[in-house]
Amino acid sequence: MAYSFQFDPIKLPPEAEALRREVRSFLREEQEKGTFRPGDKRQSSFSPEFSRKVGAKGWIGMTWPKQYGGQERSQLERYVVSEEMLAAGAPTRAHFVADRQSGPVLIKYGTEDVKREVLPQIIRGEAYFCIGLSEPNSGSDVFAASTKATKTEGGWLINGRKIWTSNAHLSTHMIGMFRTSPATPENRRHGLSQFLVRMDTPGIEVRPIHNLAGYHDFNEVVFDDAFVPDSHLIGEKDMAWKQATDELAYERSGPERFLETIFALMELVREAGPNPSERVAEGIGREVAHLKTLRRMSLSVAGMLQAGKMPVVEAAVVKDLGTNWEQALPAKVRLLGPPPGKTDSGNRAGYDDVLRHATLIAPKLTIQGGTREVLRGIIARGLGLR
Ligand SMILES: Cc1cc2nc3c(=O)[nH]c(=O)nc-3n(C[C@H](O)[C@H](O)[C@H](O)COP(=O)(O)OP(=O)(O)OC[C@H]3O[C@@H](n4cnc5c(N)ncnc54)[C@H](O)[C@@H]3O)c2cc1C
Repeated sequence: MAYSFQFDPIKLPPEAEALRREVRSFLREEQEKGTFRPGDKRQSSFSPEFSRKVGAKGWIGMTWPKQYGGQERSQLERYVVSEEMLAAGAPTRAHFVADRQSGPVLIKYGTEDVKREVLPQIIRGEAYFCIGLSEPNSGSDVFAASTKATKTEGGWLINGRKIWTSNAHLSTHMIGMFRTSPATPENRRHGLSQFLVRMDTPGIEVRPIHNLAGYHDFNEVVFDDAFVPDSHLIGEKDMAWKQATDELAYERSGPERFLETIFALMELVREAGPNPSERVAEGIGREVAHLKTLRRMSLSVAGMLQAGKMPVVEAAVVKDLGTNWEQALPAKVRLLGPPPGKTDSGNRAGYDDVLRHATLIAPKLTIQGGTREVLRGIIARGLGLR
């Protein structure tokens, strides 16, 4: 049956706007103290110190149940916090993955012991998560994973490799997907299980991979008889294929899916000044119109998640349109802005630096979190076209 996707209209409630003011004032104070400089990509965006401050404000795990230290606030309030942090260029990388998806997965499928131990650590900004899905021979096709978890007394022994694991070298935990049984002829996705893995477990080696921009963000992670206790199996054995789909709706639709190169546009606005030429004003206006539309769609997905829906196709649409837009943005800014070396940046991170960084990270944007082609496959299936 054909499916038509729908973006429910959404208006932020007054408590979300009040929270926005609070977050902005916190971020302004932190900037004044020199904790971070917006748009300066030479500073690390992974800052346990900053994450602990955000934790103390109650802005990590804020939608989670009170019994684990959360506040049961709405997805829309969480959206506002994420959006303000990203727009300000705050260093949220340490807690972002746990707040966005690892915590919700543990809440839904984790054992009670794990929830009581780990969720409060995340909420305080003390536990940092990476995602162990991709392997050298299974990227888009995550269900072809072959890194094994073999049953042993009291737990599991993990052997094999994960690759492109963002922040594995800085994280305290991974949620990884490992093979616990062979696939079946009826269901090739069967046989994989999710586990919570402590990154300081003996038998885990994290090897750096440097990206195109020269930074060490992702890694290869090698497991050699790494032991994981029974209580760290997340959900049902062999059934990760069901659980992982839920996780992706959270991963794909947030403001981080169109704000990664936004600093290039902000620098262009700054360089253009109060009286831009008609050509530059028109170019900026066009990009801001796209941005506003993407934001409304992404916010709508947050609203639908809040309403208990599972908008998988809508989330894929936001990621596809959002990452394509943010990927094309640096080249558009380059065409509209002054030639390199012709700007006066004072002591802030300058136009040239920001544009260079945005250009170098642009290629990855349509790969991470699911490639453009794979997302379009999901959308086509959702529409009943394949
Ligand atoms: C910056 C960055 C950070 C990342 N962080 C993580 C992380 O933290 N954890 C993690 O597990 N992974 C991570 N990844 C890995 C990412 O999820 C994979 O790179 C991605 O899923 C693609 O897999 P692949 O690289 O094996 O490419 P492949 O799957 O081999 O794809 C190669 C090409 O073939 C196309 N293709 C593949 N299958 C199909 C299909 N069925 N139909 C049409 N076209 C297809 C793809 O679109 C792509 O263009 C990260 C990647 C990047 C770039």
